[in-house]
Amino acid sequence: MTRSIELLEVGPRDGLQMESTVVPTAAKVELIEKLLRAGLKRIEVTSFVNPKKVPQMADAEDLLSRLKRPDGVWFTGLVLNRRGLDRAIAAGCNEIGMVVVASDTFNRRNQRVSTEESIAAWLDIARAARAAGIRAQVSVSAAFGCPFEGDVPVSRVLEIAKRVAEAEPHEICFADTIGAGVPSQVTELLTQARAALPGVRLRCHFHNTRNTGIANAFAAVEAGAVALDASIGGVGGCPFAPAATGNICTEDLLYMLDRSGIETGVSLTAMIETARWLQEQLGRPIPGMLMKAGPFPKVAAGANQ
Ligand code: ZN
Repeated sequence: MTRSIELLEVGPRDGLQMESTVVPTAAKVELIEKLLRAGLKRIEVTSFVNPKKVPQMADAEDLLSRLKRPDGVWFTGLVLNRRGLDRAIAAGCNEIGMVVVASDTFNRRNQRVSTEESIAAWLDIARAARAAGIRAQVSVSAAFGCPFEGDVPVSRVLEIAKRVAEAEPHEICFADTIGAGVPSQVTELLTQARAALPGVRLRCHFHNTRNTGIANAFAAVEAGAVALDASIGGVGGCPFAPAATGNICTEDLLYMLDRSGIETGVSLTAMIETARWLQEQLGRPIPGMLMKAGPFPKVAAGANQ
């Protein structure tokens, strides 16, 4: 049996959010079009949050209006409240993602409400999304560690996962928001989550803050995750570790999966080209490694020239 895993490209949102200069909407459109041509079927295109707090995402509606969504493609928008959901629906997203943070302190810092209040907001958002015919998924963030509270017990993460599962989300994502997790944690959490939430699709979101992101991704695949988030060129940051790198890099992940016989439907060479293009757009080196080293074995295209 062929093994496969779905990739959710988060570069346009999680990746670009931390960029200090605002990326022009036209460049975001071009990036997303390149990602689609590379074979990605699911892209986190933007977030519908307060534009004063996140100026990089202030063009959410404008961006969506300039994008054409091919059949079978999911454009997901991050929302944190009902107002965000209404904006995402009006803008034409066919999927939304909401975030509930496993640590109460972090949830209050990030969303200015308690974890309990975010769970209640999610249940309401999921109901409204379903009524509007929009797919809804939810992330349990800081699932592998919190910058304020330290270790987050697996039991706490599972308890929140069970609560958010009541709304029958398309999928639950366990997010290592600060890039603190290690593979043994991933194996333990996913194994327990599969037992506690039979039949629920599980996705993972890793940051490479401490260089464990790609190992965590492999552990997640082995432990039964059906989808992984990753960011083109490894762009993105971590607000709690300003000097650190961002999300795990899509094309680096792709190389590992390809060579391990795990299918994604995404072209490695197209992703490498897109990462190099993005690096030019941003005007500074970005963390991806395949874009520097190239694929292996070297592809025939080079040999024929
Ligand atoms: Zn993230």
